[in-house]
Amino acid sequence: MGSDKRNPISDYPGGLIDFTESSRAAGPMLLYCFMGAIDAYYQSFAYWIIGTMTNRPQMLARYAGFYKEIQSMAMGAVVAWQLDAKHVKLLTQVIINWMLYVYYKCKYSELNQIPSASNIEPGYLYKLLLYEAPEEPESFEDIKNDISNKIMPGITHWQSSNFFGYFQCNSSFPAMLGDMYSAMFNTISFSWKSSPATTELETIILDWLGRLIGLGKRFLSIDKDGTAGVGGGIIQETASEAQLIVLVAARKRMVAHPKSQGAGDEEAESMQGKFVAYVSDQTHTATKKDVKVIGCKPHIINSDSNFRLIKAMLEAAIAEDKKAGLILFFVCGTSGTTNTTAIDDLPGIADVAKAENIWFHVDAAYAGPALSCPEFRPLAAGSERADSFNFNPYKWMLANFDCSALWFKEGASLFKNYCNWEIPLGRRFRSLKLWFVMRMYGASGIRNHIRASVSQAKWLEEQPLIDGRFEIMVPTVFSLVVFRIKPQTIVGNSLVSCIQEDSRVFLGGTKIKDNNVIRVALGSTYGTQKNVELLVQVIKRLAAKVISENTFDLE
Ligand code: PLP
Repeated sequence: MGSDKRNPISDYPGGLIDFTESSRAAGPMLLYCFMGAIDAYYQSFAYWIIGTMTNRPQMLARYAGFYKEIQSMAMGAVVAWQLDAKHVKLLTQVIINWMLYVYYKCKYSELNQIPSASNIEPGYLYKLLLYEAPEEPESFEDIKNDISNKIMPGITHWQSSNFFGYFQCNSSFPAMLGDMYSAMFNTISFSWKSSPATTELETIILDWLGRLIGLGKRFLSIDKDGTAGVGGGIIQETASEAQLIVLVAARKRMVAHPKSQGAGDEEAESMQGKFVAYVSDQTHTATKKDVKVIGCKPHIINSDSNFRLIKAMLEAAIAEDKKAGLILFFVCGTSGTTNTTAIDDLPGIADVAKAENIWFHVDAAYAGPALSCPEFRPLAAGSERADSFNFNPYKWMLANFDCSALWFKEGASLFKNYCNWEIPLGRRFRSLKLWFVMRMYGASGIRNHIRASVSQAKWLEEQPLIDGRFEIMVPTVFSLVVFRIKPQTIVGNSLVSCIQEDSRVFLGGTKIKDNNVIRVALGSTYGTQKNVELLVQVIKRLAAKVISENTFDLE
């Protein structure tokens, strides 16, 4: 490292128009662009052939289109910014050669070549890097090599099509392009004035997204005739952060109530210690943590045998707390829980929230994108009556981490400015990536992605059942399949470790009501049926190995 002592600033003087540099660079630059165009043509042709062979011509043609876009962007950069040839080469080398062809190429191939899990020892990187930052500038080449040799071995490849762990965290080229523009503008948009397009695009895009998932007018900022709507949306980093904001808003509304009845500030504030928020044992832990962060109590209600929070259980919990003199202020219903993708009794919760005048939030962090498909909308009935609703387009809607969409009904009356809708003052230009995704995929492309993952999940759900050793824990509704090896859950645990060590595919386990289960999350951006078939093959082979290594009696 550090052998090349070139100065990156003087060597790559992009941004300043230096005619001497530009004309000197013109020859190689033109040649490079010409070669790039030929390459793009060749690539499109190759995609066309692969698309025909795999029966997915539309999708692959689309990516060929993206490739061309990137290529033309790089060429456009030459004209727009007067970059020199080295800079263009750097840009194309990073974006096209490395990202697309070295990293993403393995994702395109149906059976990825690189292991999806990393099996290095903790602390590995400290041994490979210098003790302190280099005094002199290093070359891009050296850094790039370190990415390949030192960083890559420690990466868990969430973008691998053989990655089935947690929930998916989709990445897509449109989102990457949007993020690149965001990095280029690099605005800190805390108010309309600090970057008008950032605020305005976000408002419009959250309306687009709301309409895409059928959220209803109550949550939208702008009516069809251009007049202000009653609701509003904002992009937060994560669902955890979105729900913290919701809880703060709910608490604020609750404190305002005694004040409106004549209580003084101090008296109203002092009541906060008695505020209680309702969640279930299947609600994401982030929500429970958020409740504690704002100094209130979470009341964790047992879910029913289908892992759902139901009306009767909520009513019983409320009755208990009222007797204890607690003040109810918030209930969270989940549409697609993390463990099993169960959908709480949202209409029942909405009834109780209305009767008790408490804030009703719907957490659809994972399953939200399914609502872009009309056939899934009935499952989320009741969420139209919520006070707030959030989902993570970064999970299953191709929008690259981080990106959590949050809507408030009558949001405008609660907040005046985007910087008051979030914890940090400054904000990234995140709506760009959503804009790119919604435009370059179109609503139909997003629906295709959702439906393809659900049908892969349904196919997988049927596979283990053929083999009497596997037991599906809950019927598959979206793109998560949950199963265990019966009856010894300990085998399930060993199987997860064994699969992770094997590292051809990646999946995870969890505990649901004392059962150790295995979770398989379908829905990666470029995953195909072949990847799911590999998964089944690996599970079956390693399950046989784990079972034979243990002395358990199977029944
Ligand atoms: N809610 C649900 C239902 C989730 O599945 C998750 C994460 O998987 C979260 C909330 C937390 O999401 P984030 O990591 O964006 O905070």
